[in-house]
Amino acid sequence: MPNSYDAIVLGLGAMGSAALAHLAARGRRVLGLEQFSPAHALGSSHGGSRIIRQAYFEDPAYVPLVLRAYELWAALEHGTGRHLFLRTGGLMAGSKGSDVVEGALRSAREHGLKYERLTATEIRRRFPVTRPRDDEEGVYEPDAGVLFPEECVLAHLQAAVASGAAAHFGTPVTGWEATGTGVRVITPTGTVEAEQLVITAGPWLGTVARELGLPLQVERQVMLWWEPSASHEDFAPGRFPIWILGRQGEQPLYGFPTLPGQGLKAAFHHGGATVDPDTVDRAVTKDEVQTACRALASWLPDAVGRHLRSAVCLYTNTPDEHFIISPHPHHPNVVLAGGFSGHGFKFAPTVGEILADLALEGHTRHPIGLFSPARFAKV
Ligand SMILES: Cc1cc2nc3c(=O)[nH]c(=O)nc-3n(C[C@H](O)[C@H](O)[C@H](O)COP(=O)(O)OP(=O)(O)OC[C@H]3O[C@@H](n4cnc5c(N)ncnc54)[C@H](O)[C@@H]3O)c2cc1C
Repeated sequence: MPNSYDAIVLGLGAMGSAALAHLAARGRRVLGLEQFSPAHALGSSHGGSRIIRQAYFEDPAYVPLVLRAYELWAALEHGTGRHLFLRTGGLMAGSKGSDVVEGALRSAREHGLKYERLTATEIRRRFPVTRPRDDEEGVYEPDAGVLFPEECVLAHLQAAVASGAAAHFGTPVTGWEATGTGVRVITPTGTVEAEQLVITAGPWLGTVARELGLPLQVERQVMLWWEPSASHEDFAPGRFPIWILGRQGEQPLYGFPTLPGQGLKAAFHHGGATVDPDTVDRAVTKDEVQTACRALASWLPDAVGRHLRSAVCLYTNTPDEHFIISPHPHHPNVVLAGGFSGHGFKFAPTVGEILADLALEGHTRHPIGLFSPARFAKV
C-alpha cells in the first residue's frame, strides 16, 4: 500500500464504514483498516436487523441526528442499489410513566413528529398478537422501521471504494502515534502515515485509545430468533411493527416483525455480562433462551414457537449511555467515535458525516455537545 494518506479510518464496522464513505466522497485519499472481514459478526453491527425510530425516548437531542440519518440512508440505498431500510412503524410500549413511553412522547412533541398515543385496549385492537397489561400504554410512530445492518456496512464500503477509498481487511492496527503533523499507524504488514486518524473501534475503543482511560464497559447481548407458533401473518411487516417494551421492574425487551429468511427476532436491551471482546463466550445457553422465551411469551405468546437460532453481539456502554464523538482530547489530528451503548446503528451515516467534518474541517454543524468525553473528566 502507498504509505501516506489524507486520513486513515481504524475499524470498519457501522461507524468506520460510514466515515470512510463520507471522507472518500469529499475527494480525500483515505484508507480503512479492519482486523476482521467486511460485515463480520464479532463486533456490534451484525444480526440481520436494527431498529430505526424517531421519537427517541433516550433524549430529544438525538432527533435531528436521526432525521439526517433517514436522508443519508435513503441516499445510500439509491447510490448503491442495496435494500437497506424497511418501514414498518414502531410501537414503544410499557407501564404508564415508563421512560420508554414518556421519553418517546417528549421527543415526538418537542420535534413535531408524527405519533399516536395508544391505550392498552387500542394496542390489542391494532396488534392482536400483543398482550399489554391494563396499566400499560404505547406510542406508535409510523416512520420507524428496520435497517439491515450487514447490507448497510457493505453499502458504505461499496460507496467508499467507488469514491476511491482503499479498505484493507484482516489487518489489525497494533499501535498508533501522533507525529506532530499527522499520525503513524502500525499494522503487521507495515507502517502507514496520514494527516488524520479516525478511530471507530467499537468494543475495542478502550484498547485502541487506552491513553484516555474512557469509562467504557463492553456488554454481552444475546439476540434470539423464533418461528411464531401461530398467527404468522399477524407478525409480518405491514401488519406488525418494530417494538420496544419497557415494563415496570423488568429488563426492556425489543423485537421485529418476521423478516424473510430470518424469522422473528427479539432481545433484551442491556442486562448482559461485562466482557472482554477478545475472550467473550459466544455460545448462548439454554437458560438464556428460556429466560428470553418467558419474557417474550408474556407480551407475544404466539411469537414463541420454534426457536431458530441465537447469536451474541456486543454493546459498548458509557456510564450515561450517551455516545462519544469528539476530537481526541490530546491529539488534534485524531477524532474518535464510540460508546454507542446499544443504540448507535441507526445514526451511522450521520456519525460518518460528523467524523468527516471533524477530521477535515475541525468542526461540524451537527450538535454533538452531548457526546464530549469531557463529561467523564474527574473533578
Ligand atoms: C444485539 C444488538 C442490538 C442492537 N440493536 C440496535 C438497534 O436496534 N438500533 C440501533 O440503532 N443500534 C442497535 N445496536 C447498537 C449498534 O449496532 C452499535 O451501536 C453499532 O453497531 C456500533 O458500531 P461501531 O462501528 O461503533 O462498532 P463495530 O461495528 O463493532 O465496529 C468496530 C470495528 O472496529 C474494528 N476494530 C477494532 N479494533 C481494531 C484494530 N485494532 N484494528 C483494526 N480493526 C479494529 C472491529 O473489528 C470492528 O469491525 C445494537 C447492538 C447490538 C449488539
